[in-house]
Amino acid sequence: MCRLCKGTMKESTTTHTVDLGKCLIVVRNVPCLECTQCGEMEYTTAVLKRLEQIVESCREMMTEIMVVSYTEKAA
Ligand SMILES: [Zn+2]
Repeated sequence: MCRLCKGTMKESTTTHTVDLGKCLIVVRNVPCLECTQCGEMEYTTAVLKRLEQIVESCREMMTEIMVVSYTEKAA
């Protein structure tokens, strides 16, 4: 249930972007829940943890723009 409008959440995928200032990380195909009424996106705790890991590993690469796929990073 959506925490904003209490609408129905459906499973979807989205592109998650993290701007670290000198580095922009774009993670594609991130599983999320999307509200069918207002479009609010929500990640599960597992996905949030995974995103943190991806950001951490990308941070060390010092690349300006990094585009990764959520599923490719499964290792
Ligand atoms: Zn909603």
